[in-house]
Amino acid sequence: MDALARSDALAGHAAETAGCLTCRLSETRTQVVFGSGDPDAELMIVGEAPGYHEDQGGLPFAGQAGELLVQLLAGIGLAPESVYFANVLKCRPPQNRDPLEAEIAACEPHLFRQIELVRPRVVATLGNFATKLLSGRSFGITRVHGQEQEVTLASTTVLLYPLYHPAAALYTPSMLKALEDDFARVPALLGHADVTPVPRAPLDQAPEATRPAAVEDPDRAEDERTLVGAVQLGLF
Ligand code: URA
Repeated sequence: MDALARSDALAGHAAETAGCLTCRLSETRTQVVFGSGDPDAELMIVGEAPGYHEDQGGLPFAGQAGELLVQLLAGIGLAPESVYFANVLKCRPPQNRDPLEAEIAACEPHLFRQIELVRPRVVATLGNFATKLLSGRSFGITRVHGQEQEVTLASTTVLLYPLYHPAAALYTPSMLKALEDDFARVPALLGHADVTPVPRAPLDQAPEATRPAAVEDPDRAEDERTLVGAVQLGLF
């Protein structure tokens, strides 16, 4: 299938998924958050699940974690439009709780179809849920971050590259440093010629547009849920 046919098929799959009733998250979501970005991207970034902002707006990584991701991508010379963004779950879990095993299993075919149609060279998994699902192994992100591994997913051979979740890194300086260091290797993994990473401005000095916004969600943003969940699991 050529890139245009794959892009059309992806749009068709997104349209079908919009009405998904496979699990109970359909009862509480505002809308399905399928994915966004370049359907022919070399780099796919896979997060955990939509949070408040994503559920409202319909696009992944619309909150603070997304703002940090955009900064990290800029640091390695990548525009967000050149990347494809997806999540393990396409619907927001109530109160931003952790995904349940049954929900992950129900949603998995959508993510695998996305990988099959986008055919990225590198799939960067953010945090434990995406990393464990796509690696098929139970190692936590602290152990495996920054360690690429060739895997075949949906008949597509990709380089799986586990990274700390930016939502967790926002609150933990050592994790943020590790995330930046791991990010700096992405161009080489993509096979791009030398890219000198541009240092990211400290979050409190970043331009207004790229600074994490005040949390508007009354029952807390997705970012904190991810961190709290990870801490509860003892993974960070
Ligand atoms: N927003 C997303 O779309 N996914 C995450 O994992 C976190 C925030």
